[in-house]
Amino acid sequence: MDFNLSEHQEMVYRLAYEVSKNYSLDYWREKEEKQEFGIEFWKSLVEQGFLGLVIPEEYGGSGYGLSELASAIEGLVRGGAGMAGVWYLMLTEIFLALPIVRFGTEEQKERYLPGIAEGKIEGALALTEPNVGSNTLAIKTTAVKEGDEYVINGRKVFISGIDRASAFILVARTKSLDEVERRSYGLSLFIVDMPNKNVRYTPIPKHGINYSHSCEVYIEDLRVPEDNLLGPLDAGWYVLLDILNPERIGFAIGATSIGYLAVDWAVEYAKNRVVFDRPIGSFQAIQHGLARVYAHLEGARLLSYRAAKTYDSVPLPSDPKSFNEVVGRSQYLREVGRESNIAKYVAVENGIEAVYWAMQTFGGYGYAKEFHVERWWREINLLRLAPVTQQLALNYIARYVLNLPRE
Ligand SMILES: Cc1cc2nc3c(=O)[nH]c(=O)nc-3n(C[C@H](O)[C@H](O)[C@H](O)COP(=O)(O)OP(=O)(O)OC[C@H]3O[C@@H](n4cnc5c(N)ncnc54)[C@H](O)[C@@H]3O)c2cc1C
Repeated sequence: MDFNLSEHQEMVYRLAYEVSKNYSLDYWREKEEKQEFGIEFWKSLVEQGFLGLVIPEEYGGSGYGLSELASAIEGLVRGGAGMAGVWYLMLTEIFLALPIVRFGTEEQKERYLPGIAEGKIEGALALTEPNVGSNTLAIKTTAVKEGDEYVINGRKVFISGIDRASAFILVARTKSLDEVERRSYGLSLFIVDMPNKNVRYTPIPKHGINYSHSCEVYIEDLRVPEDNLLGPLDAGWYVLLDILNPERIGFAIGATSIGYLAVDWAVEYAKNRVVFDRPIGSFQAIQHGLARVYAHLEGARLLSYRAAKTYDSVPLPSDPKSFNEVVGRSQYLREVGRESNIAKYVAVENGIEAVYWAMQTFGGYGYAKEFHVERWWREINLLRLAPVTQQLALNYIARYVLNLPRE
């Protein structure tokens, strides 16, 4: 078993860290306070090729996998950008680019991938619904075939980045639960171009991550051409898992890296802050707190990279439009689900513990906006609730890893 990053991952990590270091922590504090997109940072990401990381070379990208994207996320977060620096990168790379690379038709790839690599197309994913929450298979949004189009109606909630997206993936039911043999059948995924007068949205005021808007979305008589169906009709759940698992892995490495970032700053602070005539870093209470969380982060980091490697190594369907082939991948999806839920759960718990100890180290200043750690605290606490709650990640482990009976 090789525990080291590959040469490409090292290279991506170093570049990401350097790019991130060019932006001060105050830059991000300001973006959060002004509720503003970090356009300057985004342009740097585009210039350095980060938007093309998972896109094959023939469409203008580097042709890497999730493992290299994970290294980019780690480097960007730890360089100082925190979640702010990787949020939009994940929305576009994981929600839009990856599924098109893996399940798109040739026409869809040509239409979207070069634009994503050039930073001209940003993405989003519209899955969550107000009256359904974590029970994804019960979504109410419907897509009904009329001629060579689908007519889509429904409501979504907390859809991040839809206000900036030029295209997003919309999850809808093409068959009702009554019509299908398994609850996981009958969902389909559509690529929706934006702006679109039949897709209205309003931002939800929220606790943190305010450089991005998460919105309530109203979809009324939206007409989407049949060609915009992503993957097979009615097997959308199995394509969606191929988005939700890397999302969990991306946030796992993100959570670990915010933990490291906070510890890096807390260690510096602890060396220099003198109370009772000595640096607070000499007190065992501070040392043990920081040492313990550092050790926990090392474990979480390994799990996150292991999950990314597993995702990259499982085979793809030879025909991404084949219902049987896509559904038939469920054994691989289980494997990836195991790794990604474990990584997400452990990384978020340990990331939170790390930021907590960083805050304790900063004492009262940990609560002051000027010292940044309170912003990371707000960022990382989201990850207990999204992209999947910690309880739902544990449910997965209990049911599909430990084989405990269904509740
Ligand atoms: C800032 C932000 C950004 C987001 N961005 C997006 C996005 O871009 N796209 C998107 O589609 N969604 C997005 N979401 C939605 C997010 O994925 C959901 O909020 C999350 O999956 C939880 O769903 P819920 O909020 O409806 O909680 P609920 O499902 O209502 O859960 C509430 C509580 O009950 C617990 N619970 C529910 N069911 C069970 C069970 N079976 N067993 C044990 N406990 C259970 C949960 O763990 C949780 O603690 C975002 C959310 C936030 C807050």
